[in-house]
Amino acid sequence: MRLWKIIYFSLKRRAFGRRFFDGKVRAYPTLRCNLSCEYCVNNHIDGGRHLADYSLLDPEEWIEIFNWLNRDVILTGGEPLLYPDLGKVILGVNPKLEVTVYSNLMVPLRGDLSWLQRKRLSVYASYHISGNRDSLFAENVRLLKKSGTPFSVHAINLEGRDRLQAAFAEKLGAGAPHIDIDEDQRNIFPGSSKAFRKMVRCDRAVILIAPDGGRYQCVSRMVRRVAPFENLAKDPLSGIRHVVDCPDFGFCAPCDYLGETKFTEPNTKTANPIDDG
Ligand code: SF4
Ligand code: SF4
Repeated sequence: MRLWKIIYFSLKRRAFGRRFFDGKVRAYPTLRCNLSCEYCVNNHIDGGRHLADYSLLDPEEWIEIFNWLNRDVILTGGEPLLYPDLGKVILGVNPKLEVTVYSNLMVPLRGDLSWLQRKRLSVYASYHISGNRDSLFAENVRLLKKSGTPFSVHAINLEGRDRLQAAFAEKLGAGAPHIDIDEDQRNIFPGSSKAFRKMVRCDRAVILIAPDGGRYQCVSRMVRRVAPFENLAKDPLSGIRHVVDCPDFGFCAPCDYLGETKFTEPNTKTANPIDDG
């Protein structure tokens, strides 16, 4: 991939207005998952061999981090519902902050579900056709409806929009919720799932927190455990925007294209974090 193309794609993405940091914290309480989607970064990078290395923070540590950062929270993964005591974390976050759970909804929702009653909670459900657990998904959707928890459903466009929508409606039966179909980021983002590696200057404003509290420039680095910044379980926030020279463009995670991200010519100067508030 020629560098002008990389810059072109960054500019094109800016033109579509997806360049701004939304101010939210993206936390990965666990990177483990009950599914194995073909487009998942966990499988895409080194067979996910580093996932088991991560120690998990306690619920209290997550709560302290979120309330100290005082920003709306996205709990993602992996499958966050596999994190023990996710409900405790959700209920411990300052009620003024929004909490959004990104889930495949293919984990049984059992036990104490009082967290579903939290105000300012929503669920962003991903329907993964490889999951093959549609009855569980449907059961969880019913539960969310009953609890009144706002939720939305999306899927990655692997099968063709019409076929995917029809299959979803058929499998979920009467009462199937609306499903949004998103493009496969691998087809849009020139830096992901490629055979080449390229040195670029990677400029991102994002707060990604790994299962052990470490902060990373991107999901790809987090999964590979490459060059963490501070650990928020013990260190202050080092700044929101970081600029790094990275040799791994082409090996980025599909979702590393989202938000305020810019790729340009590499720079030989030492990369420094820039705090833009
Ligand atoms: S559900 Fe999400 S985290 Fe799990 S394998 Fe699929 S893409 Fe990966
Ligand atoms: S691998 Fe990560 S740090 Fe490197 S270019 Fe891709 S998004 Fe940036």
